[in-house]
Amino acid sequence: MPRPLRQPLIAGNWKMNKTVSQAQAFVNHLREAVAGVNNVEIVVCPPFTALFSASQALKGSNIFLGAQNMYYYEKGAFTGEISPLMLQEAGCRYVILGHSERRAYFGEEDTLINLKVKAALRTGLTPIICIGEQLAEREAGKTKEVIQKQLAGSLAGLDSELYSKVVIAYEPVWAIGTGQNATAFEAQEVSNFIRGLLANNAGPSWAEKIRLLYGGSVKPANMAVFIKQPDIDGALVGGASLEAADFALIIKTVQEVISK
Ligand code: PEP
Repeated sequence: MPRPLRQPLIAGNWKMNKTVSQAQAFVNHLREAVAGVNNVEIVVCPPFTALFSASQALKGSNIFLGAQNMYYYEKGAFTGEISPLMLQEAGCRYVILGHSERRAYFGEEDTLINLKVKAALRTGLTPIICIGEQLAEREAGKTKEVIQKQLAGSLAGLDSELYSKVVIAYEPVWAIGTGQNATAFEAQEVSNFIRGLLANNAGPSWAEKIRLLYGGSVKPANMAVFIKQPDIDGALVGGASLEAADFALIIKTVQEVISK
């Protein structure tokens, strides 16, 4: 099922896992395992401390580097924060923004995420913007309302042509780290809704270019059903991205499905 306009993307979010040496061992293993893959974009997102050494270890490979968060100023008195410029120089091409764990544990809201999205784009980083409803919101029939609000908030004030430079990850919060993935039907339904909203905001031709990922308990065994959906262009993977063999299997599953 080739998608001429959108290359599939598989990104691994390591969260607060792996030291520098563990990251290096992982990267050495992964680059060997996926060396022949050329139709899937591959991204690993280590913790800040391992970014630079991982970027060195990834040189000459088909794997890109991403960060898990950043602040929106270039530099200054913001103790403990990391700037887009620092990420770029450390070798990052991507940055995850608005992950549900940032929203839940660190109080991040759409206004802040919007500032970060704009700063990332200004610096040439591709933001992977995470949106998704909580279980209670889904059960109350509010999924679309939540998605619409988070999407509008995080993309507020963006020029149409910049839309094609963002990646949106639909991550239902109840599916993250629980082993209880959304069904392919549920994920496709919301992804299609997201693409419709993007088309309303930026126009259908830009919306067609935007990659939409599904995230939430993706593993080698369920990747195929997600990538077969017309509006799902890949996955943001947490737990299953921590073992190089599993992550490689997810990537190869996508490669196989789209090559058919
Ligand atoms: C995530 O943290 O973005 C995620 C999707 O985690 P998991 O794959 O473990 O559910």
